[in-house]
Amino acid sequence: MKESASNQEFKWVDTHCHLQLSKHKISEIDFSNIEYLIIPGVDTKSSIKAREVCESLPIKGYWSAGLHPHDAKKMEDEKETLEALFSEAHLIGETGLDYYRNLSSKDDQYKNLKFHLEASKHYKKPIIIHCRDSFDDLYNLVHEYQGEFPIILHSWTGGKKWTKRYLDLDIYFSISGIVTYDTAKDLQLSVEEIPLERLLLETDTPYLTPTPKRGEDNQPSYVFYTAQKVADLKGVSLEELSSHTIANTNTLLGI
Ligand SMILES: [Zn+2]
Repeated sequence: MKESASNQEFKWVDTHCHLQLSKHKISEIDFSNIEYLIIPGVDTKSSIKAREVCESLPIKGYWSAGLHPHDAKKMEDEKETLEALFSEAHLIGETGLDYYRNLSSKDDQYKNLKFHLEASKHYKKPIIIHCRDSFDDLYNLVHEYQGEFPIILHSWTGGKKWTKRYLDLDIYFSISGIVTYDTAKDLQLSVEEIPLERLLLETDTPYLTPTPKRGEDNQPSYVFYTAQKVADLKGVSLEELSSHTIANTNTLLGI
């Protein structure tokens, strides 16, 4: 699990890693190139687990409480516990709209997202949003909250057209390992459009392992490979990308 020395030169913030869902023990994971990380919950159980894992990390961690759009249909049952967790968590989410898998109805997903947006507004906490094949509906809803609190679009996959539109909303685009895939040409063109001040990096551990580690479970240190690709696309040095993305996350977390 240990990475080579060349990967340790600069530090990164992994803005989205589900360490509570990883099969690896925390003691087995290499955090040496990680400045700090964010562990998002996807339901009440995993949000509580995110808080626990944060407390056991050898580095600084932040956690969030939320209900994933896949499970939006469970919102009524989870609402009370989520509300209690929102007051404690550093961030709200992961929530959002997923019209690709549609594991909950569009109506349930909309209500669930609205519930999280209202919590972010109330607590003035950043929100983590998952968006898949739902660019139009998400834009219309998020637009109402522009400027109220920081918004992170996690594992952004939008093409140039949507990226330009969302840029007007002053939100943060978190780029995952998908950008390293040969099939992700549209996303690679989008990344070129996103100003450094709006870029974040993530692994989405244990999912979305970047090239050249595909086939393995993802882990925070692999954010390096995504960083390398993004730096190439932006034509900036790793040092520059590291300092910008750390500063962006500091800003949105108010630290
Ligand atoms: Zn996630």
